[in-house]
Amino acid sequence: MTGENDETPDRRGDRPRSPDGPPREGHRFDTRAIHVGQDPEPATGAVVVPIYQTSTFAQPHVGEHLGYEYARTGNPTRTALQECLASLEGTDAAVCFASGLAGEDAIFRLLSPGDHVVMANDVYGGTWRQIAQVHARWGIEVTAVDLADLDAVAAAFRDTTRLLWAETPSNPLLKILDLAALAEIAHDRGARLAADNTFATPYLQQPTSLGADLVVHSTTKYIGGHSDVVGGAVCTDAATAEELAFLQNAVGAVPGPFDAWLTLRGVKTLGVRMERHSANAARIAEALVEHPKVTGLRYPGLADHPAHRLAARQMRAFGGMVSFQVAGGIEAAKAVAERTELFFLAESLGGVESLIEHPGLMTHASVAGTELQVPDDLLRLSVGIEDVNDLIADLESALA
Ligand SMILES: *Cc1c(COP(=O)(O)O)cnc(C)c1O
Repeated sequence: MTGENDETPDRRGDRPRSPDGPPREGHRFDTRAIHVGQDPEPATGAVVVPIYQTSTFAQPHVGEHLGYEYARTGNPTRTALQECLASLEGTDAAVCFASGLAGEDAIFRLLSPGDHVVMANDVYGGTWRQIAQVHARWGIEVTAVDLADLDAVAAAFRDTTRLLWAETPSNPLLKILDLAALAEIAHDRGARLAADNTFATPYLQQPTSLGADLVVHSTTKYIGGHSDVVGGAVCTDAATAEELAFLQNAVGAVPGPFDAWLTLRGVKTLGVRMERHSANAARIAEALVEHPKVTGLRYPGLADHPAHRLAARQMRAFGGMVSFQVAGGIEAAKAVAERTELFFLAESLGGVESLIEHPGLMTHASVAGTELQVPDDLLRLSVGIEDVNDLIADLESALA
């Protein structure tokens, strides 16, 4: 971390666009994932950052401490994770939270009553629920638009718009948004761009290199990667991170040290896993593309995805998420979701094991009847890192 407090939007827009992000620590992505924030522990030489399972820290003198006072405010295991994630996203700092939604809550609390947010109309259901049913009660206004339609985005801005909220690839429709174009629209109008980078991870795409001001993650997903921990992170400039850390300490949604440790263990293999997730998902998309029971197949790596070329420009690979509709409607889709054996029927995504779910009745049930609609015959796959031939055979037998 540079600790600079004088970041301006202009300087933030100037970051290099190498797929590995700024080489500020002198090493590439996979090396930084394993080393940044993770020097051997000085007292014993332990090569793994310890789980500092303590609520408080002894202080040598009154009013003087060794960097940590009380574990809501800070914990060394959390610090290690934050330094590593900031390095991977190419930001000054990261602030880790008890969940992705806790991180989003902190971002919305940077706003004041009367402020307006322009948000993708197919955001994660929990993001929509939080802004529309929680922050709206405290005077935050929101407009949902198709962020792929840049004219509609510009038209949705008001004098009071402070934040543009994008998610790409989107969940569950796998739309790809042009982050550089969205950043320009937001900055021209004095607003900031927040990008939910949960689906892509910093391995596939670094939104701040395209102009985003804040990057939010559900680390529960690919970053943790093993479906064994819930967490969140916001990566941003030093001044904004300080505001978020203030809010986090004041509000209290901190991750415990063991959760931070599990997440950091996941991060070490992020690059290797994302390569395999992406390769497996590409093979599955190829296998489903001609399948007679499959319609509306969505995968950004397919040449006929409406934003395939944008995805190829913006991302290193196309990720592990695939969505498709099932011929025969909602009942046929539910039957397929219940018949797979390797693909567990479950919410969430991004773990090493493959998952299948019905967004309309599961993850996105909270958006039913709102302007955020998903087709009722849509299924979403989180393609794991098992042998892809077994995964294809599982899907083919469930579709048969
Ligand atoms: C899961 C998810 C979230 C919310 O994160 P939690 O860790 O479940 O609170 C936000 N955005 C996206 C894209 C997600 O998939």
